[in-house]
Amino acid sequence: MGLIVQKFGGTSVATTDRIKNVAKRVARWKAEGHDIVVVPSAMSGETNRLIGLAKAISSTPDPRELDVIASTGEQVTIALLAMAMHEEGLKSKSYTGPQVRVLTDSTFTKARILHIDDERIRKDLAEGHVVVVAGFQGADEHGNITTLGRGGSDTSAVALAAALQADECQIYTDVDGVYTTDPRVVPEARKLDTITFEEMLEMASLGSKVLQIRSVEFAGKYKVKLRVLSSFQDEGEGTLITVEEDKKMEQPIISGIAFNRDEAKLTVLGVPDRPGIAYQILGPIADANIDVDMIIQNVGHDGTTDFSFTVNRADYTKALELLKDVATRMNARGVTGDNKTCKVSAVGVGMRSHPGVASKMFSVLGAEGINIQMISTSEIKISVVIEEKYLELAVRILHKAFGLEKAD
Ligand code: ADP
Ligand code: ASP
Ligand code: MG
Repeated sequence: MGLIVQKFGGTSVATTDRIKNVAKRVARWKAEGHDIVVVPSAMSGETNRLIGLAKAISSTPDPRELDVIASTGEQVTIALLAMAMHEEGLKSKSYTGPQVRVLTDSTFTKARILHIDDERIRKDLAEGHVVVVAGFQGADEHGNITTLGRGGSDTSAVALAAALQADECQIYTDVDGVYTTDPRVVPEARKLDTITFEEMLEMASLGSKVLQIRSVEFAGKYKVKLRVLSSFQDEGEGTLITVEEDKKMEQPIISGIAFNRDEAKLTVLGVPDRPGIAYQILGPIADANIDVDMIIQNVGHDGTTDFSFTVNRADYTKALELLKDVATRMNARGVTGDNKTCKVSAVGVGMRSHPGVASKMFSVLGAEGINIQMISTSEIKISVVIEEKYLELAVRILHKAFGLEKAD
């Protein structure tokens, strides 16, 4: 018996039948004597639809208003779920984020959770209710509705689990755990029984959207027991995100291959090679709130250098515009850009004690004629930027080369 927070993603609540199934699943846990807090996402496709409506009115909708509309998707599913729970004979109450008081900062569309009032939820739980709390949303100190960034319901669930000191936070989704890579791209991908926080953090930040990165950060920080499971299968332990590396087992060198399609590369050509240049180029980019990922500076022989970096593809046009300005001001030779690039990464804590992972990665890609445009490394990951058309091929061959396929 314990307190469990269960999050159900968009596909798991995509139809009223699926919502009824979620209620049945929750009822089984409840019958075992657990206290349950349920955190649903919006029905799948709904958040996109709502944002689409806003964009049909304005190409640059006011972020505050965007959050007012985007947050309504979850308001629908919480009520439907509570009703479905009643049909199962359970006591249940639903709350929006602001009603609970999920307090966030005021960064509309990607707000951070600052505090959660647990009083109301605890009282309802004590009275035997299944408490349903809308994912993805909160309110700032002025009462403005905020949302937590795409995929943010994962973070709502983990933050609630932390605030309530839950025994476990279960993320139910359309796959039965975290895999060595996206099983939709590589069907031979293997489900992991455990993965360390550190690795999951890298996987999430490098594009594996099975968990929103902030949810993993939160779980690591507040020591929340976090598990990813299938909402369509009754069997299985899913994947547990662990603090400790599994000392019992021979640690694989690479745990997974992550990828991100949404990369774009920009290069300022023939930049005068002198101190302060990086700041002059990247300053205006940062001022425009554009996140820069990889950076490369080549040293030329004629006193100039080429300066390249990557940004999210959504920021490409804006960044290109800004750079043209910068290039003219600093007398650079010009600006080029490519928004058909992607990033593929190998992640594994075992890399620390095994040199040679990078060279193996490069040789595997080279043998297939895949050109590497940029490289970046950390202690436990190696990322390369390549042409987007090679994404699936690169992921498949690296997954195979590092021995990640399931045995059958
Ligand atoms: P939900 O709507 O439940 O939040 P998401 O679509 O956000 O679901 O996340 C689940 C999806 O994440 C899976 O369908 C899968 O395609 C994708 N995914 C990407 N990388 C991985 C991985 N390494 N392991 C499992 N799933 C992954
Ligand atoms: N409904 C939100 C989204 O689509 C939040 C979530 O699904 O986690 O991004
Ligand atoms: Mg998700």
